[in-house]
Amino acid sequence: MIKLEHIILTKAEKSSDYFNKLKVVIQANYTKEISSTTPAMNPFTQQKVFRLFEIKGSFDENFLRNLLSGNFSNIINKYQVVHNYFLTCSLVYFSSFNIKDELKYRGLVDNRPNREAIRKEYVSTYDSSWTDILIQNSHPSFEKSEKAFNALIKDVKSKLTELNIGIGRILNYDMIKKFNNLRHVLLNHMGVEVCPYCNRQYITNYNYENEPKSTADVDHFYPKSIFTLFSLSLFNFVPSCQLCNSRFKSDKGIDILFPYEKGFSEDVRFKMMGGSVDSILGHDTEFELTLDVNGSAPHLRKLENSIRMFRHTETYQSHKNTVRELLFKNQAYNRTLQGDLQNLLKDMGLEQLSKRELNLFQFGYTLDPQDFGQRPLSKLVYDIYLQVQKHASYR
Ligand SMILES: [Zn+2]
Repeated sequence: MIKLEHIILTKAEKSSDYFNKLKVVIQANYTKEISSTTPAMNPFTQQKVFRLFEIKGSFDENFLRNLLSGNFSNIINKYQVVHNYFLTCSLVYFSSFNIKDELKYRGLVDNRPNREAIRKEYVSTYDSSWTDILIQNSHPSFEKSEKAFNALIKDVKSKLTELNIGIGRILNYDMIKKFNNLRHVLLNHMGVEVCPYCNRQYITNYNYENEPKSTADVDHFYPKSIFTLFSLSLFNFVPSCQLCNSRFKSDKGIDILFPYEKGFSEDVRFKMMGGSVDSILGHDTEFELTLDVNGSAPHLRKLENSIRMFRHTETYQSHKNTVRELLFKNQAYNRTLQGDLQNLLKDMGLEQLSKRELNLFQFGYTLDPQDFGQRPLSKLVYDIYLQVQKHASYR
């Protein structure tokens, strides 16, 4: 997982005039909704849904701007109603966790008190004033059994669905289709070149008949079917390859790293394990590739979930040849090559190369974490290179 910079969203918003375009449609829907004789209601608060989009009784443009182009954590902290909404959606979205796996992960015995404690802890992570009342009135003993827990989730889910249908009358992802090619325009302005989830597949932005196009999927990090309010939020759009979006991630409800917040960076490193001297010299691929996780990383669980969800350990085994080539180049052109090259350039009266250029020349990669998003497998190559440099026995 490679971190995406927020600047790509700011750029895409500005260049595509995203907010102004969508505001016209959303505001028109809002106006229709306020004059409706049967406006949608929020079943958690008994308020009219269109009130979400208001400040002091009129349309709140600022709120919409934050919702469409603002940073998630800011908007969740700024607006209590969004905070409650986000928690309620999360309560539903992540509820399919397997309690046996959860007990095993924590090293707890599978017994009744432990199961109840886990259910209680789960609900308390995501409950809010919206769900508190529902729990007190209708599900006071939700932790006692799987059946009682599922009944609570089902109840919350059906109310959330009702709220989301109401929200969808004002704002939904289909609106993007009203604007010719807007999805492709956004993807082109974001300029992401490699899938941030896997760092294995290229994303290609191109022009066809004078229109910008992209091979990327727009992954709604938080699925629009549950988090409908965020279905047009740029912060919820992760350009990704089809495999990661549809096959691996889908809408499984597993808590993984959010690429606009964090990538693997130093906390997960590819590592070469086993192998003979020949493997280390880059002559064969008789070794394993593993992912080494920093056990004290603050988001350990999300890191582990991300590795598992995208099948990194399994899929990266097919890239051993890239590692073999790196090791071969490292060995065959030993460290003096870069110095010799600089001397040669100097003798010829040419400019010296930077470290990045030298690496590019020798390995085909700059070996600079800043460039991870530009070339597939660059994180793999970088980590293995560091591993090789660290261990003298590998030289
Ligand atoms: Zn991918």
